[in-house]
Amino acid sequence: MHGIVLLGAPGAGKGTQAVLLAKHYQIPHISSGDLFREHIKNQTELGKLAKQYMDRGELVPDEVTVGMVRERLSQPDCERGFILDGFPRTIPQAQALDNLLAELGKRITVVPWIRVREHILIERLSHRWTCRECGAVFAYFSLPPREGCKREVCTGELYKREDDTPEVQQRRIRVYEEQTAPLIDYYREKGLLVEINGEHTIEYVQNLLRQAITAVERAA
Ligand code: AMP
Repeated sequence: MHGIVLLGAPGAGKGTQAVLLAKHYQIPHISSGDLFREHIKNQTELGKLAKQYMDRGELVPDEVTVGMVRERLSQPDCERGFILDGFPRTIPQAQALDNLLAELGKRITVVPWIRVREHILIERLSHRWTCRECGAVFAYFSLPPREGCKREVCTGELYKREDDTPEVQQRRIRVYEEQTAPLIDYYREKGLLVEINGEHTIEYVQNLLRQAITAVERAA
């Protein structure tokens, strides 16, 4: 069983790496941000509530977020494991996750922390385009190609996320430092943390991640 929690600031590459890891290990990629965006697209009550926080670059309240992730982790496709991307983001969320996993008879096996310096995060976020259909992200310095997404058979339209404006990006990075960075020590103390230099190419970071996941899981 792989219980992978990806830590890292916005723009560190968690989503991109999670998609590749999910394919490699054949386990679901669970992104709390994607789950919220799905709720917004479907205009659910949860989506309307979450949008107010997301537009400001702030965190959606823990109770709402934990409930949503609980439902997702309870689904049968998580039997063989899971990759969490963007959750937990606060210490109370991490504690809730520990309790929830214990209830479900699952556990976290490794927590890769993808490190990227702030000026590179800002640079990446400002060139980020997201696919409306599959959520894949691409970096284009000007406008993206008209044919849209190029991931596998997808041709979805590429758009700029509303929370990818410079002001909201700054806010999200601050929120990460204040509320999410304490999770680094939380998982280090549990012996689950492994640091990954996220400033290399996508393929290189993917290899670092797979090696680190194998090493930590073997040592457990
Ligand atoms: P992301 O797609 O991970 O960058 O998340 C986009 C936005 O969704 C964040 O800026 C938050 O407003 C919200 N969000 C995603 N995950 C969480 C979480 N675990 N806790 C609270 N808010 C979250």
